[in-house]
This record gives sequence, structure tokens and C-alpha cells, in this order.
Amino acid sequence: MQVDRGLLLKVRERNLTVPLTGQWRDETDLGGDLRLEGAVDVDGLLSREEGGYRFRGSLTTRVVGACDRCMTPVNMELHVPVEATFTTAPETDASEEAEPVGEVPNYPLEKDGELDLSPAFHESLIFALPMKVLCQEDCLGLCPRCGALLAQGPCGCSDEPVDPRLSPLQALLSGKGRSET
Ligand SMILES: [Zn+2]
Ligand SMILES: [Zn+2]
Repeated sequence: MQVDRGLLLKVRERNLTVPLTGQWRDETDLGGDLRLEGAVDVDGLLSREEGGYRFRGSLTTRVVGACDRCMTPVNMELHVPVEATFTTAPETDASEEAEPVGEVPNYPLEKDGELDLSPAFHESLIFALPMKVLCQEDCLGLCPRCGALLAQGPCGCSDEPVDPRLSPLQALLSGKGRSET
């Protein structure tokens, strides 16, 4: 999300904190199985920062994917707080121990002083994605034998070991052998 130059000028010269709202589209792949559905709503404040700017706000969007256990499509809202600074010079001074500035990530300003918030937004989204996607907390998944959706009730398969590699062994053990083939 590219910030308008006029707005940047206001923020810098008058030391203002201005509201920054709008829609942003993440053109970069999120990685993994989840993807964004539509645009991201951006709502926050842009203020001056030593050597650059600070954005503080939130992103709201919908992500779609499939349940890790049963493959049912999942569509959920993601609300992600974002705080980041954008500065020209690196904040760390080689001669001094870098003071930990909290958990606020810093991004470089583009050479001509333009401000693009996209990298910060993109990384915040990726960080906020759930590690595990489930259609519901206690999703029962699929029957490993017949593939039936177990949430729809028992499929009728027995509880015997399901590994098909074991069945010839079981046949041997039960004395049947494989003579019929
Ligand atoms: Zn599921
Ligand atoms: Zn089954």
C-alpha cells in the first residue's frame, strides 16, 4: 500500500498523526495452503518517527483454505494488529549495543522517500495465519478406510488396524496363507 506523497509531506512537516484507511491487495503469495479472499481492509494511524514513519493499526481480511483433517473448505476472518516503523537509516549504531526497541519491526524507506507499507502488511498477515486449519476445534476428520466424513456419523468401518500393508501378515498369522492366488 503506497502512501500518497502529499500525506507524507503533511506528516513530516507538521509532525501530524494522520488516519490511514483503505483497501489493500496483497499481490504476494502467502505460502502454505491458505489464501486471501479479496482485499484487505486497512485501518490505522501514520505518524512521524525519527528518520521516517510509524504505522500503527490493524488489517482485516478473510482467508480461505481447507480443513487439515477433513478437507472441508474453511473461510475465516483474520484481524491482525500491525505496528511497524519505516526509516531511512538503520537504527542500530555499531558503536553501541542496540537497544531493544520492543517487538516493532523496522522496514527501510525507499530511496526517493516514498513509503510502501506492503512489506509490513504482508509479513504481519503471514505471521498471523493459523498453523493448523480446522473446520472446527474437534473435527473428526475422514475415515482412514473409506474416506467418509466422520462428522456425519459412523461410516460402519470396523476399528481393526487400518494399515493395508498389515493385511497379508494377518492372513499368514491366521493360517490362511495366500494359497488362493
Ligand atoms: Zn474438518
Ligand atoms: Zn469408514
